[in-house]
Amino acid sequence: GRNFRPEGTTITFPNGVVVGGEEVVVMAGPCSVESREQILTSAKQVAAAGAKFLRGGAFKPRSSPYSFQGMGLDGLKLLREVSDETGLLVITEVMEISQIELMLPYIDCFQVGARNMQNFNLLRELGHVRKPVLMKRGISATIEEVLLSAEYILSGGNYSLMLCERGIRTYETYTRNTMDISAIPVLKKLTHLPVLGDPSHGVGIRDLVPPMALASVAAGADGLLMEMHPNPDKAMSDGAQSLYPEQLQKLMAQLRLLAPVV
Ligand code: PEP
Ligand code: MN
Repeated sequence: GRNFRPEGTTITFPNGVVVGGEEVVVMAGPCSVESREQILTSAKQVAAAGAKFLRGGAFKPRSSPYSFQGMGLDGLKLLREVSDETGLLVITEVMEISQIELMLPYIDCFQVGARNMQNFNLLRELGHVRKPVLMKRGISATIEEVLLSAEYILSGGNYSLMLCERGIRTYETYTRNTMDISAIPVLKKLTHLPVLGDPSHGVGIRDLVPPMALASVAAGADGLLMEMHPNPDKAMSDGAQSLYPEQLQKLMAQLRLLAPVV
């Protein structure tokens, strides 16, 4: 609860970037790591936009078992290599307990995906690591369920936890999900944890991402997790919701009118 730390939790990363502080922290990059060239180009574009984290999935939770499942360990190695080259931090998804040890040397932050928000064994294990975790809201999770899942990680002693609103499933089908902007101030009020918005999965439509990113920050988000691809039309996953590099660049300038952004 918020009373535990009325001033709020801040998480300081190796390069000095702080999440939960004065600045809005932007984490951007492709849905999936696809090749060395693709992720290196992405990293350069993310760094040029002024963001501090590179996102990119190496282990992908795909709805279909026949879709691209990610590059695995090779993807982790590429993420580390290009992030070191461009001065970025790495956030990437962990899908199961056996991946935790493997990932530790290559990443700066674990991402728990919407589908795993109630994988309680995974959450419990992440409570025992000493590396930050960003936990996304489940596709149909209530706020209460988000809080209880967070408790699985916190109660293990890992307080470096961020929450992330990424849209929930409703009767509306125009957008991929319904981005529950209100979850941001609600979670900020109920918890001491930093809260981020993921407008990419929130809406699933590229041109709707910037307005929902701005809305997230206006609602008090401590950061944003967004998909950007050097060539979205060729993306192996989530191309339709991936920003063009120039869209990210423009959005960063718009965000800076609302808050200090890194
Ligand atoms: C992702 O970030 O690419 C992802 C799979 O997100 P989510 O878990 O929110 O669906
Ligand atoms: Mn994605």
